[in-house]
Amino acid sequence: MDELEILETLRTNKGFLKPEDWVVYGRAHRFTSVPAQHRPLCPDCGSDDFETVGQYVWFSNLIRLNDCRDCKLVFSDTLIDQDVVKRYFEGSYKDEKYFLRRRRRVFQQIAGLADDRTPWEGSVLDVGGATGHLLAILRSRRPDLRLLLNDLSEQACEHAKERVGLDTLCGGIEVLEQTGTRFDTVIMSDVLYYEPELRRIWALLPKMIKPGGTLVIRAPNKYGLIQLQQYLWSATHTDDDRRMQDRIDHFNPEHIYVFRAQYLLSRLMQLGFEASVLPSELLVPPGGDLKERLFYQASKVVAGLSCGKLITTPSFIICARNTG
Ligand SMILES: [Zn+2]
Repeated sequence: MDELEILETLRTNKGFLKPEDWVVYGRAHRFTSVPAQHRPLCPDCGSDDFETVGQYVWFSNLIRLNDCRDCKLVFSDTLIDQDVVKRYFEGSYKDEKYFLRRRRRVFQQIAGLADDRTPWEGSVLDVGGATGHLLAILRSRRPDLRLLLNDLSEQACEHAKERVGLDTLCGGIEVLEQTGTRFDTVIMSDVLYYEPELRRIWALLPKMIKPGGTLVIRAPNKYGLIQLQQYLWSATHTDDDRRMQDRIDHFNPEHIYVFRAQYLLSRLMQLGFEASVLPSELLVPPGGDLKERLFYQASKVVAGLSCGKLITTPSFIICARNTG
């Protein structure tokens, strides 16, 4: 690609305020033209009062991670075209056995929460449930429940239906809005950070969960670490380095938000939910997880002593009851 072509790509892609600075970088990283949408305002409260935490390159676009001073949502200011993202996720199909082994304690914890809180013969919806591992575990504990799996990926829904025998609902927020059904329990484990239409999710949840019903959300607990790392990085780098920053440590660029537990708790309270935060079980590394189990037990003690104010595990769980 010659200089003019790469400049044209940098001008049409988002975020490169001075495209000429990025020509060498863009060529080295084989930049291509990728459609994306810039979001100048907070996608939840609409505020323009935010602080930029840092910037990263993703799909040949330069994206800024912003922290809203009004609602405390941390969000990406650019959305990569949804078709491009969908193709990327369909292509990165995970090794099933490895995935299940790594996440087994997480699945057991969430299945346990759903088991405790869902009434006899109640209904459970798993949003972004992938190929159905979590619901399969829940079904073995509670064969009485009516289970429904939702996922954006047709490949995942097909697998959950054919191989696991689950009822599925394939698609994004629009199919959830059309169901018109209320569930006793809705699970959103490691999925909310992919949702471009966050406000539509918040509007939908009270309508989708029965009064007295439960919402379980799992999300990474990384914001403190991202802020600290970003602070240290900025303090030890020059203005030129900062202008050319292309990644944010501890931030997964596949995600479009970083959630503070406090943001989720107060957002759910506004919607009429009573919510609390818990430490989440850890992923199981290959070759035993004694250290992880001890750390998780210690984190539970810390969370209990601090009344949920201090969560030290890499992810947290929000458990909420619809009081509406
Ligand atoms: Zn906001």
